[in-house]
Amino acid sequence: MTPGEPSEPLRVAIVGSGPAGFYAAEALLGHPEMAIEVDMIDRLPTPFGLVRAGVAPDHPKIKSVIKRYEKTAGHDAYRFFGHVTVGRDVSAEELAGLYHAVVWAYGAGTDRKLGIPGEDLPGSHAATEFVAWYNGHPDFADREFDLGCERVVVIGNGNVAADVARMLLLPRPELECTDTAPYAIDALAGSSVREVLVLGRRGPAQAAFTNPEVRELGELTDADVFVDRAAVAADETSAAFLDSDAADATNRKNLESFTEFSEREPGGKPKRVELRFLRTPLEIQGDGRVERIVAAVNRLEVDESGAVRARATDETETIECGMVLRSIGYLGTGIDGVPYDAAAGVIPNERGRVTGDGSKPHPGHYVVGWIKRGPTGVIGTNKKDAQETIETLLEDAAAGTLPERDAGADALPALLAERGVDFIEYDGWQEIDALEQERGAAAGRPRIKLTAFEELLAAARKERNG
Ligand code: NAP
Repeated sequence: MTPGEPSEPLRVAIVGSGPAGFYAAEALLGHPEMAIEVDMIDRLPTPFGLVRAGVAPDHPKIKSVIKRYEKTAGHDAYRFFGHVTVGRDVSAEELAGLYHAVVWAYGAGTDRKLGIPGEDLPGSHAATEFVAWYNGHPDFADREFDLGCERVVVIGNGNVAADVARMLLLPRPELECTDTAPYAIDALAGSSVREVLVLGRRGPAQAAFTNPEVRELGELTDADVFVDRAAVAADETSAAFLDSDAADATNRKNLESFTEFSEREPGGKPKRVELRFLRTPLEIQGDGRVERIVAAVNRLEVDESGAVRARATDETETIECGMVLRSIGYLGTGIDGVPYDAAAGVIPNERGRVTGDGSKPHPGHYVVGWIKRGPTGVIGTNKKDAQETIETLLEDAAAGTLPERDAGADALPALLAERGVDFIEYDGWQEIDALEQERGAAAGRPRIKLTAFEELLAAARKERNG
């Protein structure tokens, strides 16, 4: 029998409750002609992934997408199992045995490494960890970032680099009107940081920032923005790039903003943010902690594929600094029992259908989001991506190629209960949400996040201790 009839609903587990997971759930539940049940599992007691723990707190509009996910979560056939780690509480094989299909949606949980000496010195951090810390992610809440230095170097020219640069420079009132974790507001507002230097290995025309993020760097209340005029003067390689189809409107607009920044007179603000291009970090140095970074000065060239690449010259530059944030991209990790392409940091797939050795299908396994395509794109990119995967899944269901399963809706909660897993359901999250908003309202803030597992679990169980 093909699952999808009321007598045998199509039962799907989605592992990960970020945007990709929610768009996959929305796509599945948008088929009223079929009986489909969706169980969403997350390692954290809280849903929404990087919308809660990644999006910069001073970008509340971006977070409003949560309303759409709440609608999906309100569907009768949707259930949430938070605080459940696949690979620890339940294996991938066990989970797959309970559902017709598993959709892996757990994103890219770690960071890319520079692979240079000194990368692990105290004071050198992955920007992704700094982001998780100021957003109150319970795994990172007790991390320490020593902000007692004057200059921070941020490596990378993507939106995460822009986010951390901005957060380092926001004044207290602009932090207090956000949902930044309370400990991070104190640390950031009391920091000695006066200058953030953002290093890009290529030129201003090739930066990965999107336009609003660049413009915001020029609108900071307390910090002047600085770009060297020589850096925006068109070199031949960039001029050819901008004339070619490889460049898009974002590249051109970014360059306009950088050019405008380079023409500004300093406004006398107490802090500064500088974008310095054509620099590749070679070594992070210091006696027991970060004191300086040595970077190669690059020139641009076009490689055989036509891409603009940075090529180091013999010239180097040494920059004194007390902290380095490495912001060169997220990286996916594998999960036991599921095929994994370690070089690319993704689960290999064709249109979202997980493939194993020699591109053979791995029946019943699907993938969406960053663990499908790599850590690229904005939140909305995941919608089309998830729709593609769910189309593939439903094609397989119709073709009768999904594995046969006889486990019912009670199977997962029964297994978790038997193992003593303290899982949180959606109404438990709603208790957390209500308490965070209540605490925020009392302090004139949008919410005050709970940042420790014990607090989150207690709130989910409605044990409010003040
Ligand atoms: P990203 O956009 O991929 O940027 C990574 C940056 O690191 C690039 O400038 C890249 O330079 C540089 N880089 C990579 N390897 C390097 C190396 N070995 N040495 C020096 N530089 C290196 O990544 P991200 O900033 O982590 O952002 C991830 C995704 O989330 C992006 O799609 C981003 O747009 C999105 N995001 C969006 C928002 C928003 O919408 N507001 C906020 C945060 C993140 P090359 O270009 O030369 O490779």
